[in-house]
Amino acid sequence: MGDRAGHANIGGVVGSGLCTQCGTCVSLCPRGAVTAEWSVRRGYSVRVDAALCNDCGICVDVCPGEGLDFTPGAWWREENDGAPVQDFLGPWRRLHVGWAPDEQTRYRGASGGIATAILQGALALDLIDAAIVCRMDPENSMRVQPLIARTAEEIAECRGSKYNVVATNTMLRRVLDEPGRYALVGLPCHIQGFRLAQARSARLRERVAFTLGIFCASSFEPRATEVEALRAGLDPGELARVSYRGPGWPGPLHLGTRAGDASESALSTYFPRFVRNASPLRCRLCPDALSELADISVGDTWLPRYEGTAGVSDLVIRTARGERLVDALAPGWLTLFASTPAEILQTQEETRQMKRDRYRGRMWLRKISGRPVPRNPGIAHETSLRDRWAGIKDLAGEARGRVEGRRYPSRS
Ligand SMILES: Cc1cc2nc3c(=O)[nH]c(=O)nc-3n(C[C@H](O)[C@H](O)[C@H](O)COP(=O)(O)OP(=O)(O)OC[C@H]3O[C@@H](n4cnc5c(N)ncnc54)[C@H](O)[C@@H]3O)c2cc1C
Ligand code: SF4
Ligand code: SF4
Ligand code: SF4
Repeated sequence: MGDRAGHANIGGVVGSGLCTQCGTCVSLCPRGAVTAEWSVRRGYSVRVDAALCNDCGICVDVCPGEGLDFTPGAWWREENDGAPVQDFLGPWRRLHVGWAPDEQTRYRGASGGIATAILQGALALDLIDAAIVCRMDPENSMRVQPLIARTAEEIAECRGSKYNVVATNTMLRRVLDEPGRYALVGLPCHIQGFRLAQARSARLRERVAFTLGIFCASSFEPRATEVEALRAGLDPGELARVSYRGPGWPGPLHLGTRAGDASESALSTYFPRFVRNASPLRCRLCPDALSELADISVGDTWLPRYEGTAGVSDLVIRTARGERLVDALAPGWLTLFASTPAEILQTQEETRQMKRDRYRGRMWLRKISGRPVPRNPGIAHETSLRDRWAGIKDLAGEARGRVEGRRYPSRS
């Protein structure tokens, strides 16, 4: 029986609002009892079919929804093999900033195109057969769809950040069923779910060659994209193209309809609206910003000196596996410069505020209202007055955002 959180199945996690929508339980349930149904309002809603479930508890064991152990002795830190650990930065062996030497990969990527270059390089060097990535669903431009890419072209098609939830780990079922060497690209909660799944599956340990974690301040309900379309006077049902970032850096949100109407909003304009209106509760209670459990993590190098460039990425190498991979790929596939903890933290100051000050404030508010919170030992939870104020401001902003959103009733 699963005992991580005292539930027989993940119904309790979902019911308490702590599901991250990672999709791990869907893949790991041996009876096919868990499904993740997509809707524009919520994203992926996880459900357990009681008629199929036998309460084996596997889904609970692989679920990161109720939190994760971040203490120095946590089981997953074995992979980091004594690497230095710093709060918020996580474990690291080497730090870099850089970009893809291929101009188009850099220009069309979210930041410096590092994620795409790593995957394409690993494929070209025959280190992997496929990569788990995601793209905008060609049938529904507000939905992000996970997929297994097997060619450099398919990997390129998935470049760019999608500020929209995606149940990436539903693809682990395919990894379990189809032999091969895979890379997994995911947000911190995807990597957490994967590592929990890997802890109980030898097949996942063998078949996933490396994990590439994407930094994450928050993901967003698909509804955020619908509201942006409505604000711009576009019919969300007619959207044929949604691109949240790029080309160029940081690149605007681009929405385009089948009829050829289009709108663009700068990241600095629409991102705060996304945070207010559509950051899921679980993202507001999430302390893992820099994908601490990944082999390597990538994010944006938000430093004024790189403004006006084609894009620059942070790269955090966390494990020996990650280090071997980067050494095999640089300099042909990656242009890298040494960085420092202070510089990487400087690039993530806004995200740090969300994942530390706001996180502690929202955890405090949830606790005093008697509602369930994720348990994250190893993350400091003592709240200062500033944290409480950050939590209250965030809650008020969220309430205002939800009211603002009502001005744009859903068309679906
Ligand atoms: C929801 C979200 C929040 C983010 N928050 C931050 C932040 O706070 N600070 C920061 O520095 N960077 C953040 N990033 C990361 C940043 O936007 C870039 O994705 C990252 O720097 C990689 O850029 P790149 O040019 O190397 O990647 P690219 O070469 O453009 O490739 C991007 C890769 O990311 C994958 N991907 C895109 N969207 C998602 C998604 N929603 N879920 C899982 N995988 C996805 C794609 O499959 C692709 O392989 C966030 C990204 C997302 C998706
Ligand atoms: S059968 Fe097991 S893994 Fe599947 S939903 Fe039930 S408890 Fe979870
Ligand atoms: S495993 Fe992931 S998708 Fe499933 S309930 Fe837990 S957090 Fe949600
Ligand atoms: S904020 Fe946390 S829970 Fe939300 S998508 Fe990012 S990693 Fe997952």
